[in-house]
Amino acid sequence: MLSVDDALALILRHTPLGPVESVPLEEAAGCVLAEEVRADRDSPPFHRAMMDGYAVRSVDLVATPTSLRVVGEVAAGATRDLVLERGQAVRIMTGAPVPAGADAVVRVEDTEAPAPEEVRVRSGVSPGRNITPRGVEVGRGDRVLAPPLRIGPAELGVLAAVGAARVRARRPPRVAVLSTGDELVEAHESPGPASIRDANSWSLAALGRGEGLAVERLGIAGDSAGALRTAIAGGLAYDLLVLSGGVSMGVYDLVRPILLEAGVHIHFEQVRLKPGKPAVFGTRGQAAVFGLPGNPVSAFLTWLLFVRTAARAMQADPDATGHRVRARLAGDPVRTLDRRLYLPVRLEAGPGGETAARPVDWHGSGDLYALVRADGFAAIPEDAGLVAPGSPVEVIPYRPGW
Ligand code: AMP
Ligand code: MG
Repeated sequence: MLSVDDALALILRHTPLGPVESVPLEEAAGCVLAEEVRADRDSPPFHRAMMDGYAVRSVDLVATPTSLRVVGEVAAGATRDLVLERGQAVRIMTGAPVPAGADAVVRVEDTEAPAPEEVRVRSGVSPGRNITPRGVEVGRGDRVLAPPLRIGPAELGVLAAVGAARVRARRPPRVAVLSTGDELVEAHESPGPASIRDANSWSLAALGRGEGLAVERLGIAGDSAGALRTAIAGGLAYDLLVLSGGVSMGVYDLVRPILLEAGVHIHFEQVRLKPGKPAVFGTRGQAAVFGLPGNPVSAFLTWLLFVRTAARAMQADPDATGHRVRARLAGDPVRTLDRRLYLPVRLEAGPGGETAARPVDWHGSGDLYALVRADGFAAIPEDAGLVAPGSPVEVIPYRPGW
């Protein structure tokens, strides 16, 4: 049976890459950049005043206090072709171009204006003071963004600043989430004695949306071949179809055969991990499909491990497997298994900047309630004997901030 790492490698190898599109800036956040972006001009494009005050020649302020003659004003967005002469000052606003001849800006707080055409400056300034010189941030033609790179708030601001109104990038995949099982009813329904409410499509869709994916919940499909055939045919129109349930060894676990029947190429169907062993991964054309186990904790974990990786790989995200928190195991020693064990843990900021991962009270893969008490899953390596408290563990966090 495949190890978790081998399963991840198969996902990275077989997940189809999404198309590069020309994406308008309004929709670019969360896309992964696919082209190099260069500055179309120097930044700042002119010597820029950093303060409201007076543009001056610093040599005029060798002896202070002193009075200068105010010969004009430059507001942000204005241009003036005056040249500052000896003994002169220009009233200037933050963001305005510093006029020629001036080499410093005196803050308005350090001045008095006894008359409209006069400014009294209390103390001297060194050359360059309160001026951002042209081109110090970036020069025209400099590369400001290099692909592949996920476009976040800073990148979006930079794209706007250099005038990239459209950018070549890969959008987040469109994801469909489908719950399967004859026992499932909707959250607003009252379940019969042997039924339960569908929890997975809610937690999985929320995980995906939290990752910036466009997720649609397709509802519930029963365990019959007909119901699955119809639902899977619809789901394969998305970039990524994620089913939960119906992938174990039961008589009514039909997801895998129906995926095969639909022409899906299955790349793996079991992984050496707990919880989540019967996880299925396949592709058909440009679509990827996961059949996650139905137990809610298994589905949640295998989304974090596998679905998220595939979704990111579709965008050519350089960090496809996602973030891990390095922590130290707290609590009791943990006996390792012949497959990788993922324990729901609470993360605690410890003294000295270390993070502790404390396993929460947990009743196994069906116990979704335990995840409310936890912040992530600590990976306990396979075949490592007893893992003692204080041992380093990697945690897959699922709460923002970790
Ligand atoms: P399965 O993988 O279909 O064998 O389901 C394993 C367990 O998970 C069973 O106890 C199911 O009732 C439960 N289960 C399956 N799907 C869901 C779901 N969408 N929400 C909550 N529990 C589920
Ligand atoms: Mg089932």
